[in-house]
Amino acid sequence: MKKILQLIAFGTMSVAIISCSDVSLDNSNAALNSLNKSARNESKDRGCAAMEVLEENMKDDPSLKDRMDEIEKHTKDYEKKQKNGRVGATGTLIIPVVVNVLYSNANENISDAQIQSQIDVLNKDFSATNSDLSLVPSAFSSAVSNLEIQFVLSSVVRKSSTKTSWGTRDAMKSAKKGGIDPTTSTTKLNLWVCNIGGGILGYAQFPGGSSATDGVVIGPQYFGNTGFVSAPYDKGRTATHEVGHWLNLRHIWGDASCGNDLVSDTPTQQTSNFGCPAFPHVTCSNGPNGDMFMNYMDYTDDLCMYMFSGGQKTRTRAIFAVGGARASFNL
Ligand SMILES: [Zn+2]
Repeated sequence: MKKILQLIAFGTMSVAIISCSDVSLDNSNAALNSLNKSARNESKDRGCAAMEVLEENMKDDPSLKDRMDEIEKHTKDYEKKQKNGRVGATGTLIIPVVVNVLYSNANENISDAQIQSQIDVLNKDFSATNSDLSLVPSAFSSAVSNLEIQFVLSSVVRKSSTKTSWGTRDAMKSAKKGGIDPTTSTTKLNLWVCNIGGGILGYAQFPGGSSATDGVVIGPQYFGNTGFVSAPYDKGRTATHEVGHWLNLRHIWGDASCGNDLVSDTPTQQTSNFGCPAFPHVTCSNGPNGDMFMNYMDYTDDLCMYMFSGGQKTRTRAIFAVGGARASFNL
């Protein structure tokens, strides 16, 4: 565990980006390309440049791949142990949350009520008590999982700035760059609420990155479900998706055509789904039930995503276990 924690402290970031766009994920030409496309298609489909940005970061810092490989090995070991009944579920994990608000106008200085609405959505979604869970098709009901994670608002830090967009290079996470430094990111989930620009809704850092930049960034109008929010991303699900990445979950289509999301109980699917698809949506010979497009790790609208799977739960549990990348949250 020591080794892993040292590696985490030493590393650079890996980020996942989610944006309003119809970005083609076959385009391997990194985040900038995605950002440009996002800008052209703002307010259209949800999109995410997670893997493109991750690829860029791995080019910048080759040791990041080693750290993430190590985390993946640990996850596979954990999955095996759990399958053999040697790792029991540890009950509900409580994660303290620090919300860092950076604003250049009154709208962006979101209310305490809007902040609390996001915490409430996270708590429902990560405990499978969201009211729309009943919409899961019966074909997938056995895969539905309660991730047993609860989020408690620890503090809110607010800062006025003349900066109107913050980009995706973590400036918002650094006081030196005009942002707000994270508060003890080894024991608290830091969320930054600020305008990112380029049609980007938010982005998250996967386990394996630097503690100096660890956390999730979300635009104010996609944060929570009341106040300054913007449809169809006004139900707080951008944070559910991004916190999923922070907990080591991949996109459900595996960021490749009929790719692998490293979870066995989610069907292989061709690519991301947008809007609100009709069930079933069969791709990659995954009939009769088709894609699990109502999973939070797809790109569907906030109203049309409402479940995690058991395999996803196991992945998130692994990082909190002894030797896991976020084991420090359990101390
Ligand atoms: Zn994503």
